[in-house]
Amino acid sequence: MAVMTAPENTPVWVDTSRCKACDICVDACPAGVLSMQPEPTSVLGAMISVIAPESCIGCNECELSCPDFAIFVADKKEFKFAKLTKDAKARQEAIVKNGYKLPADYKEAN
Ligand code: SF4
Ligand code: SF4
Repeated sequence: MAVMTAPENTPVWVDTSRCKACDICVDACPAGVLSMQPEPTSVLGAMISVIAPESCIGCNECELSCPDFAIFVADKKEFKFAKLTKDAKARQEAIVKNGYKLPADYKEAN
């Protein structure tokens, strides 16, 4: 596995050349941080996107569940992660219900 250096001030990031758009990490995230996005150049027509980095709680579920070692989480010593909020949980539910994509008309409660 290649060693990936964290982009500065980033909780979670993706090596898009490895991502096969399987949705597993989107399903595993408890905080609505990840979503699939349409991507015409990808084989599956979609690509993972970090849509709400400010909600990342640093639980590492995405990194641990990715079969392709394509997603990485910052070290807790290097990044101050968020706490899990009701809004983040609600966003996650909306993403999962909508086939692992954030609904286009989704509005945050706050
Ligand atoms: S570390 Fe946890 S909260 Fe952050 S993107 Fe990964 S699964 Fe979601
Ligand atoms: S689990 Fe890995 S390969 Fe699957 S969508 Fe997430 S980053 Fe891409």
